[in-house]
Amino acid sequence: MPDNLEKFTCLKRDIAKINIDPLQRGGILTPAAREALLEWGDGYSICDFCAGMLDRITNPPVEEFVHAVLPEFLGTDEVRVTHGARESKFAAMHALCEKGDWVVMDGNAHYTTVLAAERAGLKIEYVPSSKEPDYAITAEGYVQAIERAYEHKGNVSMAVLTYPDGNYGNLADAGAISGACHDYGVPLLLNGAYSVGRMPVNARELGADIIVASGHKSMAASGPVGLLGASEEYAKTIFRLSPTKKNKEVELLGCTVRGAPLLTLMASFPAVVERIRHWPEEVEKARAFSAEMEKLGMKQLGDRPHNHDLMFFLAENLFEISQKAKKGRYFLYRDLKERGISGIKPGLTRQFKLSTFGLSKEEMDEVIRAFDEIINSYENQ
Ligand SMILES: *Cc1c(COP(=O)(O)O)cnc(C)c1O
Repeated sequence: MPDNLEKFTCLKRDIAKINIDPLQRGGILTPAAREALLEWGDGYSICDFCAGMLDRITNPPVEEFVHAVLPEFLGTDEVRVTHGARESKFAAMHALCEKGDWVVMDGNAHYTTVLAAERAGLKIEYVPSSKEPDYAITAEGYVQAIERAYEHKGNVSMAVLTYPDGNYGNLADAGAISGACHDYGVPLLLNGAYSVGRMPVNARELGADIIVASGHKSMAASGPVGLLGASEEYAKTIFRLSPTKKNKEVELLGCTVRGAPLLTLMASFPAVVERIRHWPEEVEKARAFSAEMEKLGMKQLGDRPHNHDLMFFLAENLFEISQKAKKGRYFLYRDLKERGISGIKPGLTRQFKLSTFGLSKEEMDEVIRAFDEIINSYENQ
């Protein structure tokens, strides 16, 4: 054992004033959630109050949250708390699909959807996107992908739509896509990692049979924590009880989130419900930001006008600067950091994504001003 273990005890976090990383904007804790994190930080802290089923704990009010509030919130019959969107997707696939089955998913799908399918032993047929600059996904694409999977003599047991996807922030027509899948008797799983907790999403209204969410991505929770919702028809199978261990759901390995992450999710929930009511303002902010970035010579790809705070930009002008700048392609990261802004991956210049979710008008102006200053400082050299 090395003798300098002390360094593990003083773990400070050095963060910029403004963080535009899409991963992090929706996961910032509310003051109430930050308190809950401290209060419930000990391991297994919730288990003092459990009589065998974590989701049936009445004080703190987990049962009401999981069995009454969340089903209404997601528009689905049953909900369970999981460790994240990926764990939710894997549980649904593992429970509902047979090894060797096909799962159809959009070409913009998150890598964790692919890994969940691989871990469940499924084959993947993609719905290709329309490519640059829109990267659009259509219901007709799902029809064709399902047909192709049938041509492989396969059984198609699930379709997945990423809503929105994590690259372009595109919101496909989920209602049309669920309709197309249902025509073939294929259930649709809606991946709401970037939507549930930010914008109104109702599984029933969109025709989704299964819905997954990410607490640390979009619900102001510390995580790892996520949601898995399903209509009665599929919930029976996904949330089946163990034949031998009383009151334990097999697919969830009995209990999932056993303390602080769940309590942060609950503590921030009222604020999350409130912020969803302000979603139209978030969309307006994103569109205004996109317009300002384009005035500076960058181009926003994906849905136009855009319908989500996650945006992808092409920046040939920044790429050109990187060819000449000191530190090369790391100049953008460095120059933004000097101006108190983080969240664009070090080394990226030609294309990058960012989010305006929850930023104030002043903060958005500051980000635009920073890009403007940086571009000007090199153009005049
Ligand atoms: C972030 C993200 C995930 C992963 O979410 P976890 O809760 O961390 O598993 C899945 N899908 C999409 C589209 C994402 O953006």
